[in-house]
Amino acid sequence: MEKDMNRKIKKYGVLKNSLFMLQAAKDHVPSVIWLAVLDALLAVAVSVTTLYVAPSILHSLEIHSTLPELLYTILFFTMGITAVSAVHAYVQENLFYGRIEVRNHILNRVRYKMSMSSYPLREKREFTDLLVKANDTLNDNNKASEAIWRTFTGLLQNILGFVIYLVLLGRVDRVVILATVVTTVLGYLVSYRANEWNYRHREEDEEISKRIWYVLDQAQDRCLAKDIRIFGMQEWLRGLCDRYIKLYYDFCGRRERQYLIADLAGLVLGVLRNGIAYVYLIYMVLGGEISASEFLLYFTAVSGFTAWISGIMEQVSTLHRQGIELESVREFLDYEEPFRMEEGEALVWEPGKAYTIELRDVSFGYGGSTVFSHLNLTIHQGEKLAVVGLNGAGKTTLVKLICGFYDPDEGAVLLNGVDIRGYNRRDYYKLIAGVFQDFSVIASSVAVNVAQDAKELDMEKVRDCIEKAGLKKKVESLPRQYETLLDRDVHRGAVELSGGELQRLMLARLLYKDSPIVVLDEPTAALDPIAESDIYQRYNELTRGKSAVFISHRLASTRFCDRILLIEDGGIAEEGTHEELLKNGKRYTQLFELQSRYYQENGQF
Ligand code: ADP
Repeated sequence: MEKDMNRKIKKYGVLKNSLFMLQAAKDHVPSVIWLAVLDALLAVAVSVTTLYVAPSILHSLEIHSTLPELLYTILFFTMGITAVSAVHAYVQENLFYGRIEVRNHILNRVRYKMSMSSYPLREKREFTDLLVKANDTLNDNNKASEAIWRTFTGLLQNILGFVIYLVLLGRVDRVVILATVVTTVLGYLVSYRANEWNYRHREEDEEISKRIWYVLDQAQDRCLAKDIRIFGMQEWLRGLCDRYIKLYYDFCGRRERQYLIADLAGLVLGVLRNGIAYVYLIYMVLGGEISASEFLLYFTAVSGFTAWISGIMEQVSTLHRQGIELESVREFLDYEEPFRMEEGEALVWEPGKAYTIELRDVSFGYGGSTVFSHLNLTIHQGEKLAVVGLNGAGKTTLVKLICGFYDPDEGAVLLNGVDIRGYNRRDYYKLIAGVFQDFSVIASSVAVNVAQDAKELDMEKVRDCIEKAGLKKKVESLPRQYETLLDRDVHRGAVELSGGELQRLMLARLLYKDSPIVVLDEPTAALDPIAESDIYQRYNELTRGKSAVFISHRLASTRFCDRILLIEDGGIAEEGTHEELLKNGKRYTQLFELQSRYYQENGQF
């Protein structure tokens, strides 16, 4: 299976990933782009205005302005800063929600891609790993998919601030500007080293966190609750948790040491920078080149200038990192689909038409281990076929090949003589209704669970299918009847159906889809053999005229079928009706007698 799915990993780079975000905003929430620009402009406006407040007041005092003039200056700045800050806050609030919206659009694309991807992709480690990474990049406000907007704004803001302050400091000697630039760049490089350390060790961080969360999740898991109690796993889990938490503390200690060194170096460089600026500017004041208010202005501008420079470097490096994080989202979204979906030939189901499925010379395996070798099988319209065999014989794999979830490594699956690989695979899926071992109950109403669609729900059909499935009495006894919610984990007061009732619900779901081909892959495995046999009989009666494939490892459940295949050793070991196979007296007979004896001895029959 893997061999057809090798692919070239396409790399996008920071610039393309930034453009991807801009495009996503342009397509869904264009206001985010201009709001981000406005955010940067307003932040710079607030900063520059604030820079001038104290020097201007000092200047008014120096030139002995009158009290009203002084108050006017103060009022002018206060009102100005308040007004700009208010608009800035308003813009930031809108931008915040806009950014979330853009992220959610991308998240939806990821979810859609996952739900629409073919089965082999879903099982492919590289693909699922990418999904985990993509989700991680999309799952909160501080992750790259949203935080990148803050970086865009920050970068623009820092560049604008840098240019304005550079022009302003043009009057001061170049030595001050140079000392400021050099100490800032050095300070940045030291803190970059600490961040780099953190980045290089992120996998260690993730690994430990993953283990801690795994242990915590297991301790709370509903399914595991019984095992924890019965096997006394509490202490073991607690010990594991303590061990991983200690590992995490050790890791944090090492990380904090890096930051401490960076902070100390930043402090020393800051003292150096301010010292040079103080000495130089005091020298200018004493020489009568600048006034006290100008001294204040320039000195404040030096620290502002420092902030802009380190801001630019920080934002560039953050952008680089966020670009790398976004890479996984893009790789996931652009992951090549091995199946032909919409681009395949359209296949329209014609009611009343006979559909024959043929597996011709099919070989298939998982990552090198063969499950089927040169298998041939034809399922005719209306036929009831049973596939039986021991665990691991390949029953589920056969169902997945019939359903078109996997493609054979060799040979082909044909629908009325045509290779299904050429068809739109989603159209092909419309021909098949299946209930599988791991069937899903949606946290919604009974009706939606039957129709698997909340929008176009045919209530009459739902009622009819529930009745045929033998669940009418139960559903109509519930206060909200067909609107009864299922799944207690999600809905308070939801109803929990028993195993047998769930099976009937699944039967109703299958009847609702009304496809010409029906597949049952042991959805009843958790039921007792009699209940399984009953439900299979019911499926049999209600799917007359349809082709049906029944899977079971209990031979008694499927003896009503027109044809039974016993799967063993990578192929069909025996084939015939129940009676024919018993008459043969071979492997099927052996297994049947073994199982009958087992059930009789265990009092289940
Ligand atoms: P059955 O349904 O008869 O119990 P399966 O079709 O599930 O058997 O499995 C057939 C063989 O293929 C088993 O050896 C099983 O371990 C292996 N197998 C099934 N699914 C996978 C998978 N996704 N990846 C790798 N091996 C698998």
